Amino acid sequence: MADVKSYKMLIGGEWVDASDGNTRKIESPATGDVIAEVPEATAEDVDKAVRAAKTAFDETWSDATPGERSRALLKMADLVEEHGDEIGRLESENVGKVLALTMSEEVPVIADQFRFFAAGARVLEGLAAGEYMKGYTSMLRREPIGVAGLIAPWNYPLYMAAWKLGPALAAGNTIVIKPAENTPLTLLRFAQYIAEAEIFPPGVFNVVTGDGEPVGDAIVKHKDVGIVSLTGETTTGKLIARNASETLKRVHLELGGKAPVIVFDDADISTAAEWIQIAGYFNSGQDCTAATRVLAGPRVYENLVSEVISKVSEMKVGDIFDDEAAMGSLVSRAQLERVTGFVDRARERGATVNIGGEVIDQPGSWYSPTLVTDVKQDDEIVQNEVFGPVVTVQRYDDEEQALAWANGVDYGLAASVWTRDVGRALRMSRKLQFGTVWINTHIPLTPEMPHGGYKQSGYGKDMSIYSIEEYTNVKHVMASLD
Ligand code: NAD
Repeated sequence: MADVKSYKMLIGGEWVDASDGNTRKIESPATGDVIAEVPEATAEDVDKAVRAAKTAFDETWSDATPGERSRALLKMADLVEEHGDEIGRLESENVGKVLALTMSEEVPVIADQFRFFAAGARVLEGLAAGEYMKGYTSMLRREPIGVAGLIAPWNYPLYMAAWKLGPALAAGNTIVIKPAENTPLTLLRFAQYIAEAEIFPPGVFNVVTGDGEPVGDAIVKHKDVGIVSLTGETTTGKLIARNASETLKRVHLELGGKAPVIVFDDADISTAAEWIQIAGYFNSGQDCTAATRVLAGPRVYENLVSEVISKVSEMKVGDIFDDEAAMGSLVSRAQLERVTGFVDRARERGATVNIGGEVIDQPGSWYSPTLVTDVKQDDEIVQNEVFGPVVTVQRYDDEEQALAWANGVDYGLAASVWTRDVGRALRMSRKLQFGTVWINTHIPLTPEMPHGGYKQSGYGKDMSIYSIEEYTNVKHVMASLD
C-alpha cells in the first residue's frame, strides 16, 4: 500500500481545503495505487483565489519592477533544481513516466525555462517613443493584463505549467493556476516551496485543484480574470473560447496535434527511424508534437517500416524506475481505453498492426508501443489525436501527395521533413501549415523560439518573447507638447 499524502490548495497565501471539504484521490497509473488526496475545489474557492490575485495585483505585484519579477523567476528556477529529485519522482509516479527520462528531459528543462522568462521580463520591446504627429509625443507602454487564469494538462504537468507561469509572471500578472484534475501533485509541491521561500507577496501565486467543471470553468467565466490560457484538447479549447466570450477576456489556446513525419526517398532512413522511435513513443506518445503520422516515400517505405519495427521491438517497457526503460504507462485507465479503442477500430477497418497493439497485463494502465500500417488518409487513426504510443505509416506517391496528406488534418501544431535536398526541405517548410517545422529531426524545442498551433491546434504562442507579449496589454500614451 503506497503512502497516501494529503495536499491543500494555495489561496491568498493560505493553505486551504475545498470550501465544501471535498477531496479527490490521486492514483499512480504505473501501479494503480492511490498515492495522494487533494482538494476538489468549488466555484466559490475559485472566486476567492481570483479576488486574492486581484488584490495582490492592485496592491503589490503591479509595482514590482522587471528586475524584481526576474529575480522571483530565477528563484523559482533554483527551487526546481534544488528539489529536482523529489519533483521528478513525484511527476513520474503521478503520470507513470520513466523516472530517468523525467530527470533528464523535464526537470532541468523546467528550470531553464524559468531562467529564460526571468531574462525576458527585463527586455520587453515596443516602438520607440517619438513625435509621430507634429506637436505630440507618443509612447508605448506594455502592461500586465492583471489576473491570469492558467489551466494546465496532464501530459507534462509541471513543465506545461511552467510554460504559463513563466510568461504570465514575467509580464507582471498575478496568477490562478489549475493543474489537470488527475496530475496536480508536482504543482502543489512546487507551490509549497515557493510559499516557504516567500518569493511572492501573498495572493500573487494561487493554485486551485479539481475538475474542468466547475473549477476550470469558474476561472474561464470569472469577470476579474483578464486572460485565460489553456493547454489541453481541441474540444476543451473550443468550449473555453465560447465560455470566455461572455466576458471577452483574452484566450490563449495550446491544443492538440497530429504531427506528420514526411520521409523522402533521399533521407537518412536509419536516423529517421531512430527519431520516429524517440518522438513517437516518448512519454508514451502523450505529447502534442509526437511523431504520430509517418508519410514515407515510395522507395523507402518498406525499409523504414522494418527499421522502426526493429527499434520499437528493443524498447523496454514496464517499470518506470528502470534506468533503461524507454516508456512508462499511460496516464489513466480512461486513456488506456481511448488508445485501445483507436487501435481496435483501425484493425476492424483493415489496418495492419505490425508490432504492439495490446494492453500490457500488469497493474496500472499500460499499453505496448504500436506501429500501424495499411491506413487511409480519412481513417480516424490518421485524422484524430490518439495521444498514446501509436504511430501510423502511409506510403505516398510524390511530393504533392505528401504535402496534401501532411496538411490534410484539422491540427497544425508541428511537422517534420526528412530529406537531404535543401530546396525541397525549404519548399516543404514554407507550405506546411504547422507552427513548428523540423528538418531532419523531430521534437526538440528551445525556450527562445515560439511554440504554438495553426488551425485547430489553437492560437497564441508558448515560450519565446512572444509568449510574454501574450500576457500584456499594449497602451499608447500621447502627450501634447504645448
Ligand atoms: P484536457 O482538455 O482534457 O484538459 C486540459 C485542462 O483543461 C485540464 O486542467 C482540465 O481540467 C481543463 N478543463 C477541462 N474542461 C474544462 C472546462 N470546461 N473549462 C475549463 N477548464 C477545463 O486535456 P488533457 O487531456 O489534460 O491534455 C492532453 C491534451 O493537451 C492533448 O490534446 C494535447 O495535444 C494537448 N497539449 C497541447 C500542447 C501544446 O503545446 N499545444 C502541449 C501539451 C498538451
